[in-house]
Amino acid sequence: MENKKEFKTWLEDFNLSHPLVIAGPCSAETEEQVLAIAHQLKDSDVSIYRAGIWKPRTRPGGFEGVGAIGLKWLQKAKAETGLLMGTEVATAAHVKLALEHDIDVLWIGARTTVNPFAVQEIADALQNTDKIVLVKNPVNPDLALWLGGVERLYNAGIKKLGVIHRGFSTYEKTKYRNIPEWQIAIELQSRFPDLPLICDPSHITGKRTMIQEISQQALDLNYDGLMIETHIDPDNAWSDAAQQVTPDTLKQILDDIRIRQLTTEEGSFNTEMIKLRASIDIDDSKLLETLGHRMKIAEQIGALKKANNVAVLQNKRWNEILEKMIAEGSQKGLNEEFILRIFKAIHEESIAHQVKVVNS
Ligand code: PEP
Ligand code: MN
Repeated sequence: MENKKEFKTWLEDFNLSHPLVIAGPCSAETEEQVLAIAHQLKDSDVSIYRAGIWKPRTRPGGFEGVGAIGLKWLQKAKAETGLLMGTEVATAAHVKLALEHDIDVLWIGARTTVNPFAVQEIADALQNTDKIVLVKNPVNPDLALWLGGVERLYNAGIKKLGVIHRGFSTYEKTKYRNIPEWQIAIELQSRFPDLPLICDPSHITGKRTMIQEISQQALDLNYDGLMIETHIDPDNAWSDAAQQVTPDTLKQILDDIRIRQLTTEEGSFNTEMIKLRASIDIDDSKLLETLGHRMKIAEQIGALKKANNVAVLQNKRWNEILEKMIAEGSQKGLNEEFILRIFKAIHEESIAHQVKVVNS
């Protein structure tokens, strides 16, 4: 699958002066809920209405979606509002039902993209349809797996393709529900600039207060669209309550967002700068995160030394670290003097943390 201009053509058919907006509840709950939200989104920047019918739940026992009945509600919402309808499909049976009910946009969820068998089954069921199909990134940070999903659909003759960045799962606790790992999407974007790229700030953040900030960041990185979970009564939503916003909040978010112009020479310079700076910002945050983590480990070592009455400064170990880092650093194009300066500073700080623990 080389970069295909035809990817973006479907997006241009919408004739929008702003990014594509997909909004609607995490899950279809009742006919009234589906219709009420759709009506509130009708005269806004929203082009595609989303609602999950089959919900992949990490553990059993939660609300697993209303099932096929919900497709009838979406058909009704489409007839009443003119919005295009989108839902998640995870099996060939889901695809068959969605096609029978005239669903316009089908997306593959993060828990499905990880499974090539499931994606292939979906691609086969969609063979040569004219539907818009969006592939969410897999739960794990693996660009090849994400692209593999797109390729399976492309090989099945589906041309209206796009990808959704919904963040990646980690065991570590962060301020995100799923960390954005922007560099993965940036790499995808540079390899396939014509493949529409949509950001799902709802699943990245997991909380409604951060939706604005992440949406802006996505647009600064030249994303083509946003998918934002929207509910009339977010707090009482049957799934993902903390991250859904009301239709009014959604409109506010979209009003407040700054859309960058890309047409002038200067525009492309700015976009390139924003991308590069975003990469630098990501690296800087990672450096800080790693340094913080390293100091925590130093404190644990301090506690262990204290319990065993061992001296804080271990010169042999320190010289070994330095030698190793100088060798590794030179492979990465970093000069010896720089490595020495940086590691001396890190070592000093580590010792300070250990001494604090030992003397506490
Ligand atoms: C969803 O869109 O509601 C959903 C289940 O998303 P994801 O596949 O990104 O977890
Ligand atoms: Mn959700």
